Amino acid sequence: MTAKILDGKAIAQELRQLLRAARQALGPSEVRLASVEIGQNPAADVYVRNQRRAAADVGIEMEVCNLPLGTTEAQLVTAIQALNRRDEVAGIIVQRPLPIGIDPRNVQSAIDPHKDVEGMHPANMGSILYREPLLPPCTAAAAQHLIVSTGMDLRGAETVVVGHSEIVGKPIAVLLLHHLSTVTVCHVGTRNLSEHTRRADILVVAVGKAGLVHGDMVKPGACVVDVGINQGPDGRIVGDVHFPSTAPVAGWLTPVPGGVGPVTVAMLLRNTLRAAGAQV
Ligand code: NAD
Repeated sequence: MTAKILDGKAIAQELRQLLRAARQALGPSEVRLASVEIGQNPAADVYVRNQRRAAADVGIEMEVCNLPLGTTEAQLVTAIQALNRRDEVAGIIVQRPLPIGIDPRNVQSAIDPHKDVEGMHPANMGSILYREPLLPPCTAAAAQHLIVSTGMDLRGAETVVVGHSEIVGKPIAVLLLHHLSTVTVCHVGTRNLSEHTRRADILVVAVGKAGLVHGDMVKPGACVVDVGINQGPDGRIVGDVHFPSTAPVAGWLTPVPGGVGPVTVAMLLRNTLRAAGAQV
């Protein structure tokens, strides 16, 4: 078997077409997404560029607020609170990585939950447990969207999520649980990882270790979603799943780059339009 490629770029393009219509339905007034960044980080700059391009394509205005290196957590929170008060700002995103000494949880909690378009405020995180996420966490929503796009039956499917972080692994597990798939979450304490991954009909890997999952750890025909973003030895971006050995085994497979990443950006824009709609 050779896996069908889950082409995140193409799926994101389809989503943006729907989002353009949703943007128009909001009327002529501006929809503004504010992006806050401390200092200059090459990785964050790439994300911001991609986000700005995708936002412009949908008709969302992106405002970039660059704070100087040395900005304290209190100063960052003050800047966020100022954005919270501005009516024309529909959504706020804080670019990572944050400097050492700034607690991302305090920062995320400072954002007005109605403007938390990354979906990481405790209120939005909590609402996914109740199946009522107005603003779900973007990467988790992207992984869910990619899996649903295969058309496979999720009910009763053996689903294994590798990684249990607050921003990726846990919310993915919860969203897939809502489809009545049987979810197992593996993590750094899991014994014999491959025993779990080999029985997965749906395998989501979100760890941050290049090539952690090889083809011999994958059930033939499985849907494999690779969330990882790592720098390979030659400087190129690679995922957590070893693509060459997995593609001949899996039924569906996301590439890195070009898989989860572009769909995550589309989910950020979807959340921004939802936030703008709710604020109207
Ligand atoms: P994290 O460091 O917060 O969490 C890593 C997780 O991996 C933990 O749950 C840990 O228990 C688990 N883990 C570590 N070693 C393991 C092992 N040997 N076996 C099994 N589990 C193990 O990372 P994160 O923030 O969740 O990000 C994970 C990856 O996803 C990173 O590569 C990150 O860059 C990427 N990411 C991608 C997107 C996207 O939009 N594509 C968004 C966010 C994060």
